[in-house]
Formats: sequence, C-alpha cells, structure tokens
Amino acid sequence: MKTYTGRTIRYFYDHIRAYKGALALALAGLLIAISTDMGLPLVMKGFVNLLAGGPSAQGAVAEISKLFAAFVFLSMISWIGWRIGSTFHALLEVRVMKDLSESCFAALHRQSFQFFNDQFVGALVKRVTRMVCAFEEIGDKVFYEFLPLVLRTAVVITVLWMMDAKFGILVLGWVILYIGFTVAISRYKMRNYDLPKAQADTAVTARLADTVANHTTIRFFARFLFEKDAFSGAVDKWRKIQWGAWRFDLIIDSFTTALMIGLDAGILYYAILAWQAGTFTPGDLVLLQSYLMTLYQQLFGFGRTLRHLYELFANANEMMEICDKKPAVRDRSGASDLKVTRGSVEAKGVSFSYTGEEEREVIRGLSFKVKAGEKVAFVGPSGGGKTTIFKLLLRLFDLKHGRILIDGQDISGVRQDSLRAQIAMVPQEPVLFHRSLMENIRYGKPDATDEEVRAAAKLAHCHEFISGFPEGYGTFVGERGVKLSGGERQRVAIARAILADTRILVLDEATSSLDSESEKLIKDALVNLMRGKTVFVIAHRLSTVMDMDRIFVLEKGRIVEEGSHAELTGGGVRHEPDEAGAHGAGLYKKLWEMQAGGYLGE
Ligand code: ADP
Ligand code: MG
Repeated sequence: MKTYTGRTIRYFYDHIRAYKGALALALAGLLIAISTDMGLPLVMKGFVNLLAGGPSAQGAVAEISKLFAAFVFLSMISWIGWRIGSTFHALLEVRVMKDLSESCFAALHRQSFQFFNDQFVGALVKRVTRMVCAFEEIGDKVFYEFLPLVLRTAVVITVLWMMDAKFGILVLGWVILYIGFTVAISRYKMRNYDLPKAQADTAVTARLADTVANHTTIRFFARFLFEKDAFSGAVDKWRKIQWGAWRFDLIIDSFTTALMIGLDAGILYYAILAWQAGTFTPGDLVLLQSYLMTLYQQLFGFGRTLRHLYELFANANEMMEICDKKPAVRDRSGASDLKVTRGSVEAKGVSFSYTGEEEREVIRGLSFKVKAGEKVAFVGPSGGGKTTIFKLLLRLFDLKHGRILIDGQDISGVRQDSLRAQIAMVPQEPVLFHRSLMENIRYGKPDATDEEVRAAAKLAHCHEFISGFPEGYGTFVGERGVKLSGGERQRVAIARAILADTRILVLDEATSSLDSESEKLIKDALVNLMRGKTVFVIAHRLSTVMDMDRIFVLEKGRIVEEGSHAELTGGGVRHEPDEAGAHGAGLYKKLWEMQAGGYLGE
C-alpha cells in the first residue's frame, strides 16, 4: 500500500496556512509557557541550597524571598502562556477541521462515476471522518506532546551541559540513541502493523455497511448466519493485526524503560563522583532529578506519541489517496461550456470498453445521427450496451475511440457540468435523497417555486399519490427513496426532469412490470415530458416504442437494425450481421413477436 504521509502533512499545512495568525499565537503561547515552567527547577535548586544552609546563613532570608517572587512570577507567566497557546490552538484546530471536511467532501464528489461503482459507500464515509479525526489528534499530539518534548529536552540538555559537560554529553547521547531507536521502530511498526490495521478496519466497516444495505436480501434468503460468519472472518483478521500491534508496543515499552534505568544509573554515578570532588550540592540533585523526571515523562510518551502519529497518518492515508487522485474524467483546462441551441446529437465511430481492453468492448463502432427534436428508442437484448450509450452521452466515461457531438460540439471538450446541466436524465431505478418530496423534485431546478414544483408534479402524475400522504410534499421518502414504489419513484424522477426543462432528454425506462394503471400514468407523464425535446429512450414498453420517430436495435454493442416501428415490423433498413455473432436482420420483429406482455427484452 502506498503511503502518503508527506502528502498528508502538506495537505494539512495547506489548510492551516489560512490561519497563520492563530498558528503564530498558539506557538508563541506554548514557547512562553514551556520556557518559563522549565525555569522552575532552577528556582527550586536555589531554594534547596538555601534551606540546607538554614535561615541564619548570611543574606539567606533576602535571597529566599527573591526566589519566592521568581517562583510566583514564572508560574504566572507560564499559566498565561498556556492559556494563550491552548486557546488559539483549539481555535485553529476547529477551523481547519471544518475546512478539511469540506475539502474531503469535494474531493470525494469530484471522483468519477466508475470510482463510486468500485467502492463501498460506508467505507468512503468513514474515510472522510477518519481524515478529519486524524487531523485533530495529530494537532493535539504535536501541540501538547511533540513540541513540548522538543523544547523541554532542549532546555534540559542546555542546563545540564552548563552545570557539567559530562551530564550534558551523557543526556544528549542518550536522547539521540533513544529517539533513533524509537523512530526506526515506529516506522517499522507503521509499515507492518498500522497500515494493514487501517485496511482491516476499513474492511470491517465495508462489510457492515454492505450487509446493512442488503438487509432485505439477507432476510429473504435467510442468510444471517452466512453473513455473520463472513463478518466474524473480517473482524478476526482485524483482531490478529491489532493484537500483533499491541504486543509489539509492549515489547518496545520494556526496552525503553530499561534504557531509562541505564541513564538513571549513569547520572547517579557521575553525581556521586562530583559529590566526592565537592562540586555537587543538594540543590543540584533536586535540579537533576526534576529534569530527568521531565525528560522521562516526555520521552516515554514520545515512543507512543510517535507510533500513534504514524497510526494517525495511516488513518488519514486512505482519504489522502482520494484527495490526491485525479478524477478519471476531467475537464480540459480552459474547456468551454456546452451551448445547446437545437439539441441534435451525433455519435461517430464510438467504441468503448469498461476495462480498457479491446476484446471486452461493450460498444463497437457505433454511429448515429439524431436530429434536433427527434425521438429515438434503443431496444435490444439485455447487456447489449443500451445503458452504456447513455453513460457515454453524459460523459460519465471518456471515449478512447470515436466522438459524440451535441449541436456540433465534441462533448469531450466541454465542461462536464455544462453538459450534464443540459441533459435531463430519468434513470432506470431512480434513487432519491432522504429529503422531502418537495426537495427531491425541486432538485431538477433549485430555484423553482413551490408552485412550479407542484405543476411539474401534476404533469408527471406524482401529485395524485403525493396528495394521498398525510404530510403531502413534506413527506420524507426514506433512504434512497425506499418508502415509494418503483413506479412512484420513477414519476418523481420524471417530475424532476420536467422541471429541469432541458432540450435533450435521456430516459432509461423502468423494467419492472407496472400495473396497467401506473403504466398509463407513466405514459401520460412521458408524453408531457417529451414534448418538443430531443429524446433518447431505452424502451421496454411497446406503447413507448410505437410513438418513437426511430428505433435503434442494439445487440452486442452494435446497431443491427434501425427504422420506425412500422418499417421494422414490415422490413426496414437491415444492417449486415457481424463476426461477433450479432444476428441483426429481423431481431426487432422477433422481439416484437415474442413479447406477449408488452416488453421488448430488458
Ligand atoms: P444494457 O443496458 O443494454 O442491458 P449495459 O450497457 O448496462 O447493457 O451493459 C453492457 C455490458 O457492459 C454488460 O455486459 C455489462 O456487464 C457491462 N457493464 C456495465 N456496466 C459496467 C461497469 N460499470 N463496469 C464494467 N462492466 C460494465
Ligand atoms: Mg440497461
């Protein structure tokens, strides 16, 4: 797995940069707080030496009150420093967290259609929250642990060095050894434990989310135990990795504590030598001990902090991968907006495969020309590539071969948003937001008034069922729209498209058989929707097909027949069968004759 630690730091910094003032104040506060409270042991040293001499010693009382004043003063300054530092740190952190959430949101939604097909929804959501949490925790670790550690260690080494170079060298050498060891170990741990752990963690969430999304399927097939086993498999994988990581921590801790005992003994040994030479006072011992305690406290935390930091970066890693990922379909720099004046659409030699491999082409050398205002249907066997053509028209994928032109403009050269804003799409299985029906329909035109929404709903024959709900247009439709029937959802999608009122309309008809009442309502709604537009339909209903100006029969990614319904059932323009085995001639007639229930394949 690729690591993005450097990129993540840069990314965080890019977000922090906007708040340089708060950053500077937070750091200044921290610096003041630490440098003053590290002065306190020096005051204590003076105290102890004076106390050891007794109050009768010359000038002792005056001296001790000076030290007392110094103690109060330093403590106060340190207190103020901490207040300033922690306040601005919190302020900075919360702002950056907000900005980061927004950036992650945008980075996610910028990704291509295919990207979302390949991912688990739950896992994606978790990546965003983990990235933001990671920033918060990293911010805290750096401010409250890492920077204090560096500052305090620097003070300790400097003061000890001034006291006696031997102490300074001993401590410095030890710190270098300790930190080198810890850094090496932590990097090892990140690579071998933390990254796999984050992955295992994500796998658990993904499984959970996938099963929740499919809870009906699990119920219908009574597969709870099956899913439970698979889930415990994922959790167990996580457990193994987590246990490995914790065991590793415990081993490392025992090494570091041993190193500390070693330093303690070394320092004490030199202290005894100095005492023998008469250059070591009781105050020195207090100073030394209190500095060493500080050092240990900081450094003992350092190993854990560092390993935790690596772990946090590993958590951010997965989101960073997305933030860093260039979307598969991008606007060219300086791409202009699509201008749809008439609404003619032309495909020229379009070939496409999802995998990028020639052999697995789903669309093969497709060409057609649809005049402005013309209504065409695509029919044919399931898997023939009908839906794919629509995806290409909306540029959910870029073409490797061929071009699609709208009013003479190549869609690969215009801004994607401008393209999609001018094509209304009614998908086969519309998914709705868990928002009110009013908001769901208004999605086609965000600035539409309530009246316009109602008018569109009436044309789409949504008004009937919506008025039946106690809360009418304020009714929430459930996640993905589960509280509506398929026919109702499709009519909502039609209402949206009516409201969007674009010149070009793309419609993937629902395949689920509707009762004749819904079918009539939908047919009516479609007539209202299609008026005066260039229309592409993947048609499953006879009633739709018969009203079309032209029908393309698609098989294995090629148009094998085209013509009006009358032409095709009578004997229209026939294309030659090809080497891939598309049988071509007469396919429409066969489908037509086969369908008793009124559906033309899938
Ligand atoms: P139709 O709408 O005519 O039933 P589609 O255009 O949906 O057919 O699919 C055409 C072929 O492309 C099918 O074989 C399908 O398995 C494949 N396909 C569809 N979507 C994807 C995808 N996102 N990734 C890979 N293959 C896909
Ligand atoms: Mg389809």
